[in-house]
Amino acid sequence: GKNTRRGLLSLFDHAFERALQQRLSVAQELRYSIERGELEVYFQPQHCLQTQSLMGAEALLRWRRAGQLVSPIEFIEAAESTGLIVPLGAWVLETACHEQQRWWRETGQRLTVAVNVSMRQLIDPHFLDQVDQALQKTGITPEDLELEITESMMMEDPAALQQLIAGLRDRGIKVAMDDFGTGYSSLSHLQQLPLDKLKIDRAFISGLEQHKEDRLLVEMMINLGHMLGHIVIAEGVETQEQQQILCELGCDRVQGYFYSPPLAAEAWQAYLLAHAQP
Ligand code: C2E
Ligand code: CA
Ligand code: CA
Ligand code: CA
Repeated sequence: GKNTRRGLLSLFDHAFERALQQRLSVAQELRYSIERGELEVYFQPQHCLQTQSLMGAEALLRWRRAGQLVSPIEFIEAAESTGLIVPLGAWVLETACHEQQRWWRETGQRLTVAVNVSMRQLIDPHFLDQVDQALQKTGITPEDLELEITESMMMEDPAALQQLIAGLRDRGIKVAMDDFGTGYSSLSHLQQLPLDKLKIDRAFISGLEQHKEDRLLVEMMINLGHMLGHIVIAEGVETQEQQQILCELGCDRVQGYFYSPPLAAEAWQAYLLAHAQP
């Protein structure tokens, strides 16, 4: 009846309000996370498929919130909608570059560090200044820095983005298209973007063993990437079989739990030493 409906509606209102409140408090706490030292950068190794050599690592943000480690899935949206992602992203970038320099100094290993960049950061008028500042402050060689931009972001304003990527490339910085296969890039768009790398989304890798179609799609993406002159890396590789299939399909690099989950600084340092090249 009418009363039940009203009851349900107020219940719904309540839940909605709580969700909203929760989001606001996440944003509020996130605002102080940098100064409180609650943010950490984890690193996940990337290997060459042919030689198995360690080539670099992707920097992944973590937030130690009230002692609990929180993945960016839980707070990136709040960070983006409030614009907090701009200072957070700058912090990640500088921290990642700083670490890359430390690896080099302490182990003699020269690896690439890949950093995720959100749309909000990219369209910020000071983005390139931020990048220059990180380069200057840390002394990283621009060629050792790679920025990951998701395919869906790449379609919003192709002309502006093309210019921005060109600016990064002028500095020697590498650019990877993240989550490749989940957006709808046209071939002409892909051809016009001055990229270095395509990163095949995990969704295609998880079905590699069971689904013929996924195998075909991945093969197509690898061949397309190579035709455009890009390095192709697969993310979310979890099993030996997936790794084997990717090897047969001619994929260049891999990243995923099969090799290692994202690692905190100390564990990463140990991984680095264990995989050091002479
Ligand atoms: P992403 O860029 O696609 O990063 C890969 C995600 O897959 C990471 O989740 C990683 O931990 C996870 N992953 C890696 N290997 C495997 C695997 O073998 N199996 C499975 N199931 N998962 C795997 P994470 O660290 O929770 O990050 C989630 C997303 O948050 C990232 O997706 C990225 O979009 C965003 N993110 C992370 N750090 C940053 C950052 O510093 N800035 C920005 N703007 N976004 C970030
Ligand atoms: Ca990424
Ligand atoms: Ca990805
Ligand atoms: Ca993804």
